[in-house]
Amino acid sequence: MEPLSAEDVHVAVRAELDAVDTAYGRLRSVCTDLAGNAFRIEVAARLEAQDRVNRGLSYRMFGEIAEPVDGVGMPAGVKVRDVLASRLRLTAGEVKRRFRIASRIRARRSPTGAPLPPELPALAAAVEEGEVGEDHIAAVCQALDRLPSVVAPADREAAERTLVRHAREEDSRFVAAIGVGIADCLNPDGTFTDEDRARRRGVVLGRQGPDGMSRLSGWLDPEGRAYLETVTAAQRPGRHVPDGTEGRDTRTPEQRCHDGLKLGLKAGVESGALGQHRGLPVTVIVTTTLGELEQACGWARTGGTGRLPMRDVIRMAGEAIHYLAVFEDHSTRPLYLGRAKRLATEDHRIICYARDRGCTKPNCFEPGYHCEVHHAQPWSEGGPTDADNLHFGCACDHKMATDGEYTTTVTEDGRIAWSDGSGPPRVNDVHHPERLLADSDEPPGPGPGAGP
Ligand SMILES: [Zn+2]
Repeated sequence: MEPLSAEDVHVAVRAELDAVDTAYGRLRSVCTDLAGNAFRIEVAARLEAQDRVNRGLSYRMFGEIAEPVDGVGMPAGVKVRDVLASRLRLTAGEVKRRFRIASRIRARRSPTGAPLPPELPALAAAVEEGEVGEDHIAAVCQALDRLPSVVAPADREAAERTLVRHAREEDSRFVAAIGVGIADCLNPDGTFTDEDRARRRGVVLGRQGPDGMSRLSGWLDPEGRAYLETVTAAQRPGRHVPDGTEGRDTRTPEQRCHDGLKLGLKAGVESGALGQHRGLPVTVIVTTTLGELEQACGWARTGGTGRLPMRDVIRMAGEAIHYLAVFEDHSTRPLYLGRAKRLATEDHRIICYARDRGCTKPNCFEPGYHCEVHHAQPWSEGGPTDADNLHFGCACDHKMATDGEYTTTVTEDGRIAWSDGSGPPRVNDVHHPERLLADSDEPPGPGPGAGP
């Protein structure tokens, strides 16, 4: 059969999508007040099935976008992930996740161009048919990824078929339970290699709560556990007891483990053995204003995403291992830098921490620790290396600006505005919630003070 031309495909697909939109519009306008619950359950089931069909088609698009068979991608230089994220209003992480799933369930091609079946053929068929939901996909992938490398490829394929067969019939929790059973059955002796462990290791530092506490969760490898156990065991009664607790150590085992971890990290930072990070010694960077410091209340900011109570800042500064920058209120000029040696580049970075807090590209959440120092007016075009011309950009965005995919200008109030040429330059307010709140009554658009 002769394949349709691109134009014929556009017309056909748009017509079908229009028909779906029209049908949904009519569906929304039907009142179901008197339908009865048995019927509502039937409707809910059909909507769920349609949602899964929809998801299967969406994964097809992501797979084809990643590797267009026709070879027609976006114009050179345009980052397709950025376009998808903004057009679909998805987070960068979600776009990445969908591409990752799509790459596992779409037909592949060998380096010579010959077609290869998908990595997960049974799952691919079920997704394409709209038979499984997002939770099933996650459960199947997680169960397969947890299988250790001793499992033979044929057993792995059989496991995939079994998991998908159940995913078509049962809920995702059942599929996850089947996955655990299969793993036990295929690896009865619990043989795990170093690679298996390396794959599973990971620690998640959760969001800092309003009380300043952060949830830590994850998986330690055996070596990591050995270190943590050692520093925890060193937290004996009478030693390393936090200030104010006289005599007996009344800490719980959990509190001792926490204090051991904290002490180990502090000792690591203090040792100076961690070297340098982007030109500064690896140390905690804290910025605050004179007013807050004098009142000894409120919160200072770290170079990550964290906040530190002012009392902790004062105590830590006394121990002289941290890089403390104090600013005049409402100013980007430092009054005090808590390190004796002043290198120009270090000072500039500190100012970026205080003024920018993180990447300056609109809607980028990367904190200061992950940022490079970007010349708003390129150094190659005579841009000065002084603080007013230097701003934070994460590695990815800094590169795009350097490559000319974005242009940057300094606004009247000393911030940096980015433009990709498709709209007016915009500033990044995500690291400055106080500005977001101040603007909340205005329609979204260029940030305050955006240049021409
Ligand atoms: Zn960025």
